[in-house]
Amino acid sequence: MCAQELVLKQRTEILHALCSSGSAEHLERVLDILLAHGELLWEDYQNIQVLGRALYTNARWLLDLVYTKGVDTCEHFLTALKQVLPEEQGAALSFSGCCLNLEKREESQSTSTQTLLTHRPSLVSKLQGCIDGALEALVVSGHFNSGDCNEVRLPVHTPSQQARCLLDHVRSKGESAAKVVLHYIEQKQQSGSPLNQEKLTPPKEFLKYQKKLSSSVSAQSCFLSTYGGTSHMSLDDIYTEGQLELAHDCADVHGPLGLEDIVGTVGTVSEEADTVLVSGEAGSGKSTLVQRLHLLWARGAALQDFLLLFPFSCRRLNSEQRELSVQELLFQHCCWPDREQEEIFQFILDHPHLILFTFDGLDELKQSFSDEHRLCCPTQRAPVHILLFNLIQGSLMKGVWKVVTSRPEAVGPLLKKHLRKEVSLKGFSPSGINCFVRKHHSDPTVAAKILESLQTNTALLGLCHSPVLCWIVSQCHKELLGCGEGSLQTITDVYVMILQHFLQHQSPLKSNMGLGWLQEHLKTVLRLGQLAFEGIGTTCYVFSCTDLETCGITDKDICMGFLIQSKDMSSTHSKRYEFLHVTMQCFFAALYLVLSTNTDRSAILKLFEPQDMRDTGLTSRCFGACLPSTDQQGQVLGGEATAAETPNLQITATFVSGLLSQRHRNLWLHCCPSALMEKKVKQVSRCLSKGMQKHFKSIPQPVAGEKKSMHAMPDFVWLIKCIYEMQESKIAKDAISKLEVDHLKLTYCNIGPVECTALAYVLQYLRNPVGLQLDNNSVGDVGVEQLLPCMHICNSLYLRNNNITDEGIRKLIAKGIQCDNFRKIALFNNKLTDACTQHFSHLLKTKQDFLSLRLGNNNITAEGAKQLAEGLRFNHSLQFLGLWGNKIGDAGAEALASALENSKTLVWLSLVGNGVGSAGASALANIIKNSTSLEEIWLTQNCITRTGVECLIQALEHNTRVKSIWLRNNDLSLEEPLTELTLIKDHRSSLP
Ligand code: ADP
Repeated sequence: MCAQELVLKQRTEILHALCSSGSAEHLERVLDILLAHGELLWEDYQNIQVLGRALYTNARWLLDLVYTKGVDTCEHFLTALKQVLPEEQGAALSFSGCCLNLEKREESQSTSTQTLLTHRPSLVSKLQGCIDGALEALVVSGHFNSGDCNEVRLPVHTPSQQARCLLDHVRSKGESAAKVVLHYIEQKQQSGSPLNQEKLTPPKEFLKYQKKLSSSVSAQSCFLSTYGGTSHMSLDDIYTEGQLELAHDCADVHGPLGLEDIVGTVGTVSEEADTVLVSGEAGSGKSTLVQRLHLLWARGAALQDFLLLFPFSCRRLNSEQRELSVQELLFQHCCWPDREQEEIFQFILDHPHLILFTFDGLDELKQSFSDEHRLCCPTQRAPVHILLFNLIQGSLMKGVWKVVTSRPEAVGPLLKKHLRKEVSLKGFSPSGINCFVRKHHSDPTVAAKILESLQTNTALLGLCHSPVLCWIVSQCHKELLGCGEGSLQTITDVYVMILQHFLQHQSPLKSNMGLGWLQEHLKTVLRLGQLAFEGIGTTCYVFSCTDLETCGITDKDICMGFLIQSKDMSSTHSKRYEFLHVTMQCFFAALYLVLSTNTDRSAILKLFEPQDMRDTGLTSRCFGACLPSTDQQGQVLGGEATAAETPNLQITATFVSGLLSQRHRNLWLHCCPSALMEKKVKQVSRCLSKGMQKHFKSIPQPVAGEKKSMHAMPDFVWLIKCIYEMQESKIAKDAISKLEVDHLKLTYCNIGPVECTALAYVLQYLRNPVGLQLDNNSVGDVGVEQLLPCMHICNSLYLRNNNITDEGIRKLIAKGIQCDNFRKIALFNNKLTDACTQHFSHLLKTKQDFLSLRLGNNNITAEGAKQLAEGLRFNHSLQFLGLWGNKIGDAGAEALASALENSKTLVWLSLVGNGVGSAGASALANIIKNSTSLEEIWLTQNCITRTGVECLIQALEHNTRVKSIWLRNNDLSLEEPLTELTLIKDHRSSLP
């Protein structure tokens, strides 16, 4: 008797077994299991578990539902029931054949909210003993209020019901609440580990020190420095979550990470290592993120496994010229213990796992990471960078956790070797931009206007994914809203806007003086520019008063707001300054290069060839405050531009390109002789063109019969961005039209919306169509929209793993349909659902030369497959169709089969891992029977049984063209000879 019949026949007995005790526990445990296995949807669960309704009624609802869901669900239900009921009760029921392995559910959850579901049974049991702790964690993190807690703690609830109620509430609060609970449970589980603080009794002086350190960390981190001067903004008010992802592929982690995951176990690649790297481009929010960690720790709201947190800024460590021991480094640079230094330090040494160091901006350290100088003694003195490198490697103070931030360019393989894991910070998501703008402006109408204006200018919207640019745009909202649609396109445009904003802020009465604003402040700009320029050349980001005096910077210049006083935890009292952000320093350096009549003529040329920096004036002048001892000075000047310097030089070069663009030239008209300006423009254009040629020359000749392919070198995207900043189509045309390749590969190149804008701007001038491969970047929907201008030169577009949703696809396909060359698209591992399939269907109907559609690893169900089938029915060109890892099931397979059974073009079809059973397989057999073109069909990892396989075999008898049908991992029992079957035409004779 099948499971469905068993459920029906034993209805009364099952109801009795579930409800007769009067306790809802059995029913709820069954529900937990069915939810975990996806047999019940959340909506189903809510329909069954109606508060206040009789237990029997709820159970009846469940029985009705599992029955209507069919045999599989009934089988799961009976297996769950058997597992939940006490043996003597279960014995009265027949479960014949229902013995699914409920433990072995494949982990495919992509979010913490899903984990809450898939692990629900075990979470319910784990939470029972620690409801209060979990509630506290949720309150501290701001997800629960006292009303939520009271509901969970209702006295009528049993402990397991409290746990379920807590999980249900957490689900309604969203992903970050789910993360908090999972993290809490994880920590609870590790309570046997050295992280368990309860067992520790730190000495009294240590506790005093802890208090002093945390109040000092709290004071340092509660405000954001970009809102210095007049407009203080607390981090709590403005902090907006950025997109954090693991930098490396990790099978069981998909989707975004939370702050706590940085030091959590998720994504660990080396258990041995204690250093976590947070990498991200300049302005992506790394410093703000560590500042947030500091604040949460100091406030007791996160990272509470760590008793002490020592925050370091690498740019400030640059000024430490003395040799120090670790003890001196900690106490002098972070917080001085009033008493018992030795005892406190000994406690730190004895409990390294309870200590966290953060090193912000490793890329700003003068020295590149090296593991040559080994040091293991914590009392031995050494130059600070040697201490730092040894701490990171773990040769010094092994076991102390380190969180290091850096730009990705500055992280070489030598450092990667010592990492526990790497997480990438990708700036704001589209909803993050929204959230940030709303937080920035207390007046909701202003926020709404800014957001509206961003929607009409997607190039600018793309820029706003970078938090620093989002900050500028919000800061300059008056200029933004007053400057007319679409006038802000480039990064330089945005920085010119903030330049104007800050300068005019000082003379508001003259705000209508047209282009004269720069002329009026030219001297200030040049003085700050000189400071910035020379700092960039010497890896100097913190300036002493003497440095400022050397450039003639006055108090009035400082008041403009571009320089802020450097926060320093160390005890030195002399004032130091830094630019609002490193990109601001690069911008001023670029202004200096463009506007100054004093710079070395070759400076611009050399800026575009960073390896030659040491020969230019750029590295020849140094400042007292930022230079270490004379020896190290020799080292810095003698070496090539370090990995750390190059990104800043490149940003500066990008700004130089933008400042010299036609659109900004009017601004400089009265500030600089025009002949000199023309010369600089020519220099830059030549540099860009030469740089591109160098790339093209490096393309190897293709092997006979293969396409000519270019894999972008690291600087390629940077050059493209510089060309975009110049906003001159002639330069773009000249630079790219000589590129003759069939395939342009830009995988893993950190391409986000901004890069897409620049790429499309330049690639649109390619002479011949190319395959554009952008797999494994962060293109997103905004990036997709930015790519549209170059769609006409793309014959194939590869956008695997790029965070694209249905909305991005809608725009992409609307454009693609109009592009004659567009023939292939690959969108594996994005965020597509059934909502996008109508667009593909339209594409297939409309474009009768479309060849390949690959949509693997998305969220397409039977409904989506039916939509696709609509298009396929009218298509006479498609050769490759890939739907691996979706959920089309039998119904989807049947729809596709019916649409494709007369296809004369389909060569390859993949439905791997789609829950296709024998019904689907026998429908697909029709394609095999009739097709004159099909060569390969992939059906691995489905649930096809012997019946389905037999249909496929029979169909093969009628077909001479099919070469292989892949069937591994289907529902063929061990005894059957068809297990692990690959049907290959040539071996047909060996089949049973
Ligand atoms: P990075 O260290 O990567 O160069 P920062 O953290 O200095 O970037 O960010 C630059 C500016 O962008 C900050 O000063 C702040 O104004 C804004 N910003 C960055 N991240 C966030 C965030 N998560 N929430 C709010 N503002 C942010």
